[in-house]
Amino acid sequence: MREKSREFKYRREDFGDLPVKPEHLTIYLNFGKDRVEGTNCLEMTAQGPMNELKLDATDLEILQVDWVSLSSPASPLAREGVPLSYVHDTAKNKLVVQMPHRLEEGERFCIRTQSVCFPSDHILEGIYKDTTPPGAPQQYMSQCQQWGFQRILPILDDCRAKCTMTTTLEGDRGYTHLITNGNISRDTNPEGKPVPKAHDPSRQVITYENPVPMAPYLFIACAGTWEELADHVSYKSGKSVRLEYLVPPGSAEGARVPMEILKDSVLWVARTQDYEYTGDTYRTLTMNKSNFGGMENVGNTTIVTDAALIDEHTLDQSLLYAHAVIVHEFEHNQCGSETTMETPFDVWLNEAYTVDVERQYMASRFDPSFIRLQQVESIRNPLLGPLALEDGGHVGRIVREGFNDPDELIDGVTYVKAAEVIRMLRLVLGEEHFSAGKSLYFERYRHGNANTQQFFQCFEEVSGASLDQFRRVWLHTMGYPRVSAHGRYDPQARQYRMVFTQELREGQEPFHLPVVIALVDSRGKDMDDTCRVVRLRDKETEVLLENVESAPAFPSLNRDYSFYGTFHHSGATREELALQTRLDPNLYNRVNAMRQLTDAERVRLLTHHDATVEPQWLALYGEVLEEEDMSHSLKAFFLRIDEQPLDRAYCIWYPELVAAREKLMKAVNGRYRDRLLEKFTRLDTYTLKDSSSPTEGIEARLLKQVLLDLIVVDDTRESHDLIVSHLRSATTANDRVAALLALNRSSARERRSILEEFYSRWHGHLSAYANYLRVVSSGTQEDVFHMIEEESRRPTFDITQPTWCRALYLPMALNNKKLWTEEGIQWVADSVVKLASVNATTASRLLNTFQHVGRLRADLKGRVRKALEHIVSQVPFEVSPTIHGQARAYLNHG
Ligand SMILES: [Zn+2]
Repeated sequence: MREKSREFKYRREDFGDLPVKPEHLTIYLNFGKDRVEGTNCLEMTAQGPMNELKLDATDLEILQVDWVSLSSPASPLAREGVPLSYVHDTAKNKLVVQMPHRLEEGERFCIRTQSVCFPSDHILEGIYKDTTPPGAPQQYMSQCQQWGFQRILPILDDCRAKCTMTTTLEGDRGYTHLITNGNISRDTNPEGKPVPKAHDPSRQVITYENPVPMAPYLFIACAGTWEELADHVSYKSGKSVRLEYLVPPGSAEGARVPMEILKDSVLWVARTQDYEYTGDTYRTLTMNKSNFGGMENVGNTTIVTDAALIDEHTLDQSLLYAHAVIVHEFEHNQCGSETTMETPFDVWLNEAYTVDVERQYMASRFDPSFIRLQQVESIRNPLLGPLALEDGGHVGRIVREGFNDPDELIDGVTYVKAAEVIRMLRLVLGEEHFSAGKSLYFERYRHGNANTQQFFQCFEEVSGASLDQFRRVWLHTMGYPRVSAHGRYDPQARQYRMVFTQELREGQEPFHLPVVIALVDSRGKDMDDTCRVVRLRDKETEVLLENVESAPAFPSLNRDYSFYGTFHHSGATREELALQTRLDPNLYNRVNAMRQLTDAERVRLLTHHDATVEPQWLALYGEVLEEEDMSHSLKAFFLRIDEQPLDRAYCIWYPELVAAREKLMKAVNGRYRDRLLEKFTRLDTYTLKDSSSPTEGIEARLLKQVLLDLIVVDDTRESHDLIVSHLRSATTANDRVAALLALNRSSARERRSILEEFYSRWHGHLSAYANYLRVVSSGTQEDVFHMIEEESRRPTFDITQPTWCRALYLPMALNNKKLWTEEGIQWVADSVVKLASVNATTASRLLNTFQHVGRLRADLKGRVRKALEHIVSQVPFEVSPTIHGQARAYLNHG
């Protein structure tokens, strides 16, 4: 039993020095109908005297372990061996092998293991069963990060255990591909394809040589049936790389756009990141089942099919995601595969830096303000965004104290907060020093491992700056900075004086953080020499801008969300914010000024039952609505009324926030419905000028959806007709799904029959079905829980398919209107219990709904505590340490 606060199964001290240095692996994997037999010859050098060796081995059947002589020209697979005694500790997942004699430091030796693994259809780690195409042999996929290799073969499953390998795969001759890391051996497979097995033509074999030392978490071994789309890309240096997409049979067409994005990404990375791919082939494999979007496996990136293929069912969010994930996984060649984190505690290094590169790519391919607004949305995501996670008070430290399952490290802290830290590092150091620092880092640790300290040391060396405070506070504390500022112009001294204050808890060290500021004049221009990066390191920082000729119209502060945290300009008047909404040349700050005004309205509605929406706010809203010279995406962000407040104190007033948003939207609808309708009708998203460019029209569709939601919030017959007509006219997935979402929130009488029609049309397609399931789970009518239950019972639904599982269960976690009811809270508890043993990743995300239990108001708190107690009792630690620990931690905190 576990008492008190959450205990960690793994802490940093569990990652001591390795007892051996792995040199080379010679592997044979034989894919059967329901099992994979494996032989692993591990050549190693002892790092000290040793009598036994502990290898990691999870859910493996160990058949034999041999001592194999090194002095033979034959492959270690074929050499005579001397059996060794061993103990397989299945509780600790260790294979303890007795050495035949005491080994001395520096002694090179080889042991050979023979084992079997039994791939699962829902434990998506190691080799697992993926969806098999009709008529093909069982499809096998693999996922090794973090500890999947030990589910395939005994190994030292450690990021530092990098070594070269020779891998032979055997499988049914019906497979189109047998894939692992490295280059295909031309000695055994002269045509670069599997060859029939000697004496058994029903089987085929292929051998790969992987000459670059690689960490086990990057291993891939899969056998499958794919259709191939091939192309190539040529660097300026003359080097050419073959690019392959392996996709489900019959869907190669869906890989054409991704292939173009990949080609663009490879060349962009070369140009901007000084990195050229070193292998001959870069392959992308689609996998139907995965809890992650994608995984870099050194030359064999896997991407979940739903995100990898772009076709008529791809939503715009997924299209943006496709760009991001393609460049992200490719960048991992440099950051991750060549220069590897030392332990899982440094996983943030691999990811945050890679996300930062991905974001630069996105900003270069789309409108940068649009991209930054989107990024800040991910920071503010109420379920999984890092601000919400940190408000929960359970996670937030980028370098963790410990973990129960390495999958816990794959969260908004690692991917979003940590990426913001890299962005801030660039602002603090300036582009030049940042660039020199990262070059030094990749040069120094190429083909090796690096930890957090070593990463920062590179930046300190090139800049001469101390990053001690920056690193200590950003990486090792939970919580985000809360900064406020006020400023004043002194006409006599021609000075603008600003004071920034960090709100700190007793004994808390201030953050070292950058704030981008400028003074803006009444024509909407930055005043001369006032735009700069201010670096805060203390509780209070005074900034003096000299030679300011006249009073600014307003100061534009914290541009583009310069630092991760909350910022409040305490001196800003409504008039100044209205001016800033109209005039700030920084588009992010324009939107944010409007949000602050909306937030003031929202808070009034939250705290005063009979409050109505102020006419000044409505008038400004109308002004923005009519502004012609504005990009579609910017206008969409301006007009969309969020449910979530800026003032985080109110973030957990869920039912009240739903009501306040509806009141704001209805006020806009009441005043401007005709204008909204006219704009909706005029904005043509149906005609596609260039159908080969799926990104065309993304921003228009985003705006069209915002307009639609504002128009139909009145739930009238006219609105129902508009939804249906939009649905029937739509030519893209995004418009169709937007219409269906609106329909399922409406009281339209044809709602269920139309949804049923789309179920019939879409359930045969992986992504289309997922889109349909998201619509179901986003409904706000009385029958929504009944509908989810019905969907989960359909024969077409497969709960072990993670894409569908996520799509049916997770949207409800953000569906505040239905969730914070007695029925909704019970539904979360039951669903978490149900999913815990099937898909712990989705269950854990759903459970995040309750992360703020301690701050909820009394009535909700009581119900949520009961729900959490139910989860703790129904999901024992042994079934899922992650879910059990998470629920218990919420209870202990609340
Ligand atoms: Zn990554």
